[in-house]
Amino acid sequence: INYQKATFLTSAPDIKALPADTGIEVAFAGRSNAGKSSALNTLTRQNGLARTSKTPGRTQLINTFSLSENQRLIDLPGYGFAKVPLAVKEKWQKALSEYLIKRESLKGIVILMDIRHPLKDLDQDLIHWAVQSNLQVLLLLTKADKLSPGPRKKVLMEVTEASMAFMGDVTVQVFSSLTKLGLTELEQKLDQWFSA
Ligand code: GDP
Repeated sequence: INYQKATFLTSAPDIKALPADTGIEVAFAGRSNAGKSSALNTLTRQNGLARTSKTPGRTQLINTFSLSENQRLIDLPGYGFAKVPLAVKEKWQKALSEYLIKRESLKGIVILMDIRHPLKDLDQDLIHWAVQSNLQVLLLLTKADKLSPGPRKKVLMEVTEASMAFMGDVTVQVFSSLTKLGLTELEQKLDQWFSA
């Protein structure tokens, strides 16, 4: 798939407003600041494609991008802002788990985690929900350029081992938007998901 062909489709305020549930879609999720926008921009080679909303607590939109008539990328709002009220957090968690369970076209989810802070509670919750929904899961350890090769490999091994406990189709890789490390691997995984 030529990810450069991605074009902006819609901004949805909630899952009910998403495009028709047909074809195949892949979602990107992660804590705020995990590097999700950067990764989407790197994948699509479009610097302005995904923009971060740096305003914590504000209503965040689900941005959708089209790769072809029946292939979509979904940019889910970042989670984990400390200042967001509990009620808002709980509402979003419910909506997210519902999306994972009910969305027929959703094939897999890329969960981005800063390689220096992997597997926080909310990340683990999300992995659980995704596995329970029979989704393919790719854990993307972002900003891998921040670690030297030794520590990078160590975290990769630790997270890979931890990922087995989720008992699902979970794979782990390192990634850097800065150096493009792991970009080919990411593309190959997404190609697999979109083709099956
Ligand atoms: P988002 O909130 O998950 O969309 O995260 P962003 O993509 O906006 O990135 C958050 C911060 O991390 C920004 O300051 C980025 O410049 C930085 N960042 C993102 N990806 C990388 C990376 O691969 N390497 C480094 N060193 N910094 C990164």
